[in-house]
Amino acid sequence: MNLIIFGPPGAGKGTQSNFIAKSYNLFQLSTGEILRDQIKKKTDLGIKISPVINSGSFVSDEIVSELIEKIIKEKKYYNRIIFDGYPRSLAQAKNLDNLLKKYNQKVNLVFKLSVSLETIKKRISERLTLEKRADDSEEIAIKRYKTYEKSTEPVIDYYKKLDLLKVIDGEGPIDQINKEISDIIRSI
Ligand code: AMP
Repeated sequence: MNLIIFGPPGAGKGTQSNFIAKSYNLFQLSTGEILRDQIKKKTDLGIKISPVINSGSFVSDEIVSELIEKIIKEKKYYNRIIFDGYPRSLAQAKNLDNLLKKYNQKVNLVFKLSVSLETIKKRISERLTLEKRADDSEEIAIKRYKTYEKSTEPVIDYYKKLDLLKVIDGEGPIDQINKEISDIIRSI
């Protein structure tokens, strides 16, 4: 079973993908984390992508595709990946289909954690109070939310048409969301 999880910053996507990975023995493939790790290790790739990531732009499709192919083709991850942060565009979604096909696999389910901008604002302002960060961070977070909504929209549509999309209400308590996701996974 290969899954994809989508969710705006502040939706609890990290918490949920961690829970799903543990419960169903899946490998959590977070492209953002892999890329940050390359920067931390100061590899050639890390040095190359560091300014791109720091400026908030996307790393090229070729680079990210190469990284995910290395994992998809590994026997130990065969048919047990949860994709977190990939695909981020329609081109990446189609590329993922092709890559999975190449290794005799497919996407089984796609989850979208749906959380309103109002809730995100509330959660972020709570976090800001706790962490005592600059006031304008809320503004940046709102911008990231809007960018997320805009860039993932065509990808979400793509999976909806393939009848793979499950929209999860991300407003409720963590346990309830866990349960809802689990019930869907068990039903396939
Ligand atoms: P994230 O931790 O998912 O927010 O990703 C952090 C950064 O890594 C992004 O702002 C991008 O620069 C880069 N990145 C992560 N995933 C992708 C992707 N699928 N395609 C291109 N760039 C990505």
